[in-house]
Amino acid sequence: MQNIQTDAKPLRYAIIGAGMSGILAAIKLQQRGETHIAVYEKAAAPGGTWRDNRYPGLTCDTPSHAYSYSFALNPDWSGYYATGAEINAYFIKVATDFGIVPLIHFNSEVLSCTFDEDRNVWQLGLSTGAQAEADVVILASGVLHHPNLPNLPGLASFGGKAFHSARWDDSAVLDGARVGIIGGGSTGTQLVNALSRRVARVVQFQRSPQWIMPVPQFPYSAEEREAFRKDPALMEAIRNDPQYWANIYRFTDGLTDFTSPQMAEIETICRQNLEEKVTDPALREKLRPNYPAGCKRLIYSWEYYDCVQAPCVYVETGSIDSIVPEGVRMRDGTLHPLDVIILATGFKADQFIRPTTVTGRAGLTLDEFWEPRPTAHYAVTLPGFPNLFMLNGPTSPVGNFPLIDIAERQWDYIEQLLAPLRQGAAVAVEPTPEAHAAYETRRIAAARKTIFGAGCTNWYLDKTGIPGTWPWGYQAFADAMAAPVAEEFRFS
Ligand code: NAP
Repeated sequence: MQNIQTDAKPLRYAIIGAGMSGILAAIKLQQRGETHIAVYEKAAAPGGTWRDNRYPGLTCDTPSHAYSYSFALNPDWSGYYATGAEINAYFIKVATDFGIVPLIHFNSEVLSCTFDEDRNVWQLGLSTGAQAEADVVILASGVLHHPNLPNLPGLASFGGKAFHSARWDDSAVLDGARVGIIGGGSTGTQLVNALSRRVARVVQFQRSPQWIMPVPQFPYSAEEREAFRKDPALMEAIRNDPQYWANIYRFTDGLTDFTSPQMAEIETICRQNLEEKVTDPALREKLRPNYPAGCKRLIYSWEYYDCVQAPCVYVETGSIDSIVPEGVRMRDGTLHPLDVIILATGFKADQFIRPTTVTGRAGLTLDEFWEPRPTAHYAVTLPGFPNLFMLNGPTSPVGNFPLIDIAERQWDYIEQLLAPLRQGAAVAVEPTPEAHAAYETRRIAAARKTIFGAGCTNWYLDKTGIPGTWPWGYQAFADAMAAPVAEEFRFS
């Protein structure tokens, strides 16, 4: 597509983050013919969450052909669900193939981002000491990237290796070792699966049990992958198969109401999975959740219940007293001797772009604007922060729908807001405070009714206990992203 600028000066774009969303934004801008694109990445490589998370067993729980850019399908996915390593390789390949790697400034964390109201430009202060300027800023810094480190007494005294799952320590010897996994979310369960096959002992420290949704997993054969390569239409056919998406979106509309039949159906399937797969009654009770299925993010697994029953795995449901040099001491005095402790304790999901200091009009900071909760107008724009756009920002359907599809739809929405700037018809765009306040009021009312607000603890909840996610169904999201409502924005 050609850039539609008239005699307006080309816009300068700063994209913060070179993960899935940042790569998408850079490709889309470059395809439009934009020439002033800079991507700032704090790390030394692209890939975002898939670069940071490389623990054994990491698998994406969105089927692989759905977890692909619509414009860069991948014939080489190894199976129905892809591993983290191959997804990371995919993002690096896409960034390379589309020629955007030279646009990325690696090891360049954006420390501050300040709007100059007189000139309608954003000024960026980088960790390298450099300063940069942009007309448009795209925040593509991800959601789950600040590890939540538990406050466990004595952790520093541990004699073995202890590290967070997203900060993998390659020097830790796992084979034949005694490994403690603290946490039972998606990460903790995947670690149990992988480690149950290679270590001497796994102790999973489980504070709350999780519902496990059984899903199929199967490899794509070499012949199938060759066929995908020769005829990409076969991959399109998978993506165009209504049943493929129907399986993925089977329950998503039910998320919006925790009393919905879809949520009851999820729980029935998960309960049956537990009853049928876990044969030891004592273990079955340890693994039985006491909150509605889907309230914590559902875990999709074809193997957890098999792996957790391996002879080397023990599920500890008691309270941790402290970490001692030899291992983990429980409140009842039990000592679990360990060589390695993996903190699969999740992320601080309310940080987004922070700790970067983002300052909009009249000195308003994002920290101030995000009291009491992070928010954005339809998850993309913020009043008082002109020409600043978020991908997978606060109130996005993160955890509801496949993330690449979300980002692509959000990008289409952003494109439409950028058009008047590109044409020189406006120098700044932002949502009106009134429109955003009305959105938040509606969203909060709806969010209270979602499954995420059904009474458990989970990472969706903001500090006032309200789920910070998109509370409506998939079609509502697609419709909202199809066209911004012009009256909700101020173009200046
Ligand atoms: P998580 O879902 O937040 O789980 C953290 C776990 O650590 C929970 O079991 C939590 O227990 C426990 N925990 C936290 N602090 C603790 C403490 N001080 N003592 C004992 N236990 C503690 O984090 P995650 O497993 O890393 O997953 C985060 C999200 O990343 C997922 O929900 C998913 O969206 C995404 N993810 C996806 C995949 C995939 O595609 N398959 C894989 C990994 C991650 P409580 O439940 O009691 O709080």
